[in-house]
Amino acid sequence: MTTTAILSALAEEQQGLIERLTNPVQVTRAGRDFWRGELQGRSVVLALSRIGKVAAATTATTLIEAFGASRIVFTGVAGGVGHGVQVGDVVVATEFVQHDMDASPIFPRYHIPLYGRSRFDCDGALTAILLEAARAGLTGAGSYFDQNNLRQSVAVHAGLIASGDRFVSGAAEARGLHDALQAAGFAPLAVEMEGAAVAQVCFDYGVPFAAVRTISDRADDQAHVDFPTFVTEVASHYARAIIGRFLQLLPKS
Ligand code: SAH
Repeated sequence: MTTTAILSALAEEQQGLIERLTNPVQVTRAGRDFWRGELQGRSVVLALSRIGKVAAATTATTLIEAFGASRIVFTGVAGGVGHGVQVGDVVVATEFVQHDMDASPIFPRYHIPLYGRSRFDCDGALTAILLEAARAGLTGAGSYFDQNNLRQSVAVHAGLIASGDRFVSGAAEARGLHDALQAAGFAPLAVEMEGAAVAQVCFDYGVPFAAVRTISDRADDQAHVDFPTFVTEVASHYARAIIGRFLQLLPKS
């Protein structure tokens, strides 16, 4: 049977999924806890990515090698760096770049040595389903915002996400990172710390991958302040709503 891996960046997002798991079995591998079971009648394995590219790559590799994951979907939060990408919006990734990869002058900046590329694409079909799930899931999440008088409207974006081992928490830093990427032909919508690593592992194994991030901050001087409240009050609700829809929309297999 096809096993869908649901990778969460934060414990708060994962908790709601564990609570809904049928026939849950907890397995420890590589010092990490994995949860096998069924969600909405589908065979799934849940994992926390942990933070940073290397930790996330280990988790993704274990999901594929030890749990036979045949597709991976990743949820988390991110800092918005693209024009008009605001706190509370959702970004569905179409591709990833590592903003801290720099083997220049031997290779062009951002180029992953020996891969002949800088970008790793997400799977087209899986991403289309995730995008639809995010749009549908937002109908419910929008009312959450309304109830709490947080803001008027929420947007779903699709595009490039940049990953690197750094929590970006300065307006000048965020602008510098964005502008340097733009000068090299990239248009990043958001910045986070894991997605590109998981995309690269999935590329290596030929495993379809899709990712969605809720924007928790603008990667500016307020980023550390916005972050904790946002994760518990908003992002965990979003992740649950989007994954619920995503599993409904996945073709039967
Ligand atoms: N306090 C958190 C640590 C969060 S680190 C904890 O204890 O779990 C930041 C996480 O959010 C990473 O998973 C990263 O992918 C994402 N993220 C959100 N905003 C970000 C930003 N501005 N820069 C980089 N990563 C960000």
